[in-house]
Amino acid sequence: MRTFHNISEALHTPRFFLMRGAVRQNYEVPARAAALREGLASLGLAPEAALPASLATLLTVHDGAYLDFLANAAKDWAALPEAGPEVVANIHPSPEMLAQGGVPSASVISRTGWFTADCACPIGPGTWEASVGAAGAALAAAGEVAAGRNAYALCRPPGHHTYAARAGGHCYINNAALAVEHLRAAGAARVAVLDIDSHHGNGTQGIFWDRADVLTVSLHADPGRYYPWFVGHARETGGTPDGNLNLPQDFGVGDDVWLAALDDGIAAIRRFGADALVVPLGFDASEDEPLAALKVTADGFARAGAAIGAMGLPTCITQEGGYNVDVIGGLLARFLTGFGDATSA
Ligand code: ZN
Repeated sequence: MRTFHNISEALHTPRFFLMRGAVRQNYEVPARAAALREGLASLGLAPEAALPASLATLLTVHDGAYLDFLANAAKDWAALPEAGPEVVANIHPSPEMLAQGGVPSASVISRTGWFTADCACPIGPGTWEASVGAAGAALAAAGEVAAGRNAYALCRPPGHHTYAARAGGHCYINNAALAVEHLRAAGAARVAVLDIDSHHGNGTQGIFWDRADVLTVSLHADPGRYYPWFVGHARETGGTPDGNLNLPQDFGVGDDVWLAALDDGIAAIRRFGADALVVPLGFDASEDEPLAALKVTADGFARAGAAIGAMGLPTCITQEGGYNVDVIGGLLARFLTGFGDATSA
């Protein structure tokens, strides 16, 4: 299996993270990518350098005004009097404001509130370059998958919480969605997304909500107790008959229940008749994760890899979350070994 990354990820070094009213060190740090590369190395895999995504390619998923904001936010923010080191919203438009015609002004403070969903996506001077690099890794992997081979993209920052025009939850560019659009443009008539990060893939769901040619499936912890808090429920079935399947899990669920739900997702993808598969892969469902919502073991990730590999679809794996740098490299190696195509290319 060919694997891809872009070393610009190291330029994205977020600090700000708000948790239960306390400002803490952000979890989404460059050490994650180093740990994942070690996991690949344990299998004899070395990620190849991907080119950054072009603006034209980013526009296949994202809104131009949003991309303009993301590219310029750090510079515009630094020009504010007494600016903090990172771009973080201090207001978001409420549904009442939007219902009465609320729109953003030209100010970066207003635009930050408009184009970010929460305070968990701080933008620093290297965020744009890193995000475009991660997108490039996903697109390089998708190119491989379009040729009928499986591939893995070590994307950092991750992407599945990003909507067409809104960052959120450590995510700025939706890498998995770009991979889907690349596969569609390359000739796959129907593409499925099978997201096994412990958080609902809300951005991806939003991007493909009205699309009959893309089925989004997400297996995640109960959003009633967990990010993204408002969506991720089973009742969200999409704007088309083949739109969306959410598989929320109770807190503390372990391998057997989680894998049975994964099987439900796989069955839905078989019924859909996908020609290609995109797997946003997070390890934050692990029993060893600091977020501790689910209790999946290393064996569980190997079994998930095996179940997904047995589908026999050309598969593009994009890295999402997973924050315990002591375990995520090993979990990646177990997943890919289970998947069954982890020999060096
Ligand atoms: Zn996650």
